[in-house]
Amino acid sequence: MVEGPSDAYICSACVDLCHNIIRQEKRKAAGLKPLFQKIPAPREIYDFLDRYVIGQSHARKTLAVAVHNHYKRLTHADRADVDDIEIDKSNILLIGPTGCGKTLLARSLARVLDVPIAIGDATTLTEAGYVGEDVENILLRLLQNADFDLDAAQRGIVYIDEIDKIGRSAGNVSITRDVSGEGVQQALLKMIEGTVANIPPQGGRKHPEQQYIQMDTSQILFICAGTFTGLEEIIKRRTGGKNIGFASEEADHDDTAAERGQLLELVRPEDLVEFGMIPEFVGRLPVVSALSPLDEADMVRILTEPRNALCRQYEKLFGLADSKLEFTDDALHEIARRALVRNTGARALRGVVEEIMLDIMFELPDPGRQGRYLITDAVVRGEEKAAPVRDRRRKESA
Ligand code: ADP
Repeated sequence: MVEGPSDAYICSACVDLCHNIIRQEKRKAAGLKPLFQKIPAPREIYDFLDRYVIGQSHARKTLAVAVHNHYKRLTHADRADVDDIEIDKSNILLIGPTGCGKTLLARSLARVLDVPIAIGDATTLTEAGYVGEDVENILLRLLQNADFDLDAAQRGIVYIDEIDKIGRSAGNVSITRDVSGEGVQQALLKMIEGTVANIPPQGGRKHPEQQYIQMDTSQILFICAGTFTGLEEIIKRRTGGKNIGFASEEADHDDTAAERGQLLELVRPEDLVEFGMIPEFVGRLPVVSALSPLDEADMVRILTEPRNALCRQYEKLFGLADSKLEFTDDALHEIARRALVRNTGARALRGVVEEIMLDIMFELPDPGRQGRYLITDAVVRGEEKAAPVRDRRRKESA
């Protein structure tokens, strides 16, 4: 409680609420600016994504076109041409192995378009009345990320991960959730198609006394994503099971992953239905894009190229400690290979690098440990210990 001058008190929740009201009022007073000055062309979106996302050019292209059209449709709807053709909403389904850049793509899209984004996980969603999170909470998150600007939130992006886990046939349903997961699909379905959702402003479970915020979801772009493990088997069966041998145990890791990627590109809605998604749901996600698994070369690029690439982060840290860090090419490839075996895509890179750097970072502030560090493949394999090379100038002045 915050105490006022004349025995008045206000609680922190009310302070927050007032803060939001004032901010909204200020924004209104400043005159609402149109949401988009100009919608970026598909090529601009594609190029922008290239700065953050390595590879995945097919997915980038599909997304660029779908997103461009989606926001074109919104501005078109704004103009309210009465007897004009209505363009359907094109929600997106991304299929691909874990750690290959699905979330990163969605985040980068939100950045290029300057719209709010909410990221949620289908496995934590439940039908109203069950233990877990209501589907509407993800909309609340969007509203929060839009600073409670309802207009902006209603044109934002909602990203729902692990959408494959709520399929009818999902084996890992927990008993606290509705048994089949189909109830969640139905609830999501309404939201994705476009509905006016009642959002409890405080989050959490719905409560009769709470005042709901009404949010129209018909203009929100939904991007759903999942790994869809086993989907390639279904596609393979449908396409006549060309013997590409990706199921063979001995097959080289890279080959298997690449072949899985190729098969996934052939995905059709009926495969998703066979996988266990309800047909109406599949119908609401007309744009389907398969992301390819990352290979060693992609992993090396991810380590070094993006603006906040892992290697750059460490180099920066070393710079702050008056030292210099360098990786040899062989070391980068060794790191990539080690990360690939972990089967969690680019997510494994951090773990691998973290392990290599632990001892070095531990000792770095010690006297005499500053200098230039060269990480070679032998260091990555643990065969050698990286030692600081003091640069000559520093030695002389010492
Ligand atoms: P998922 O496909 O499981 O959603 P994410 O997009 O969350 O995976 O990726 C996890 C992390 O791996 C990201 O934060 C990013 O740093 C890195 N990453 C994954 N794929 C790529 C990619 N194609 N380009 C650059 N970084 C990537």
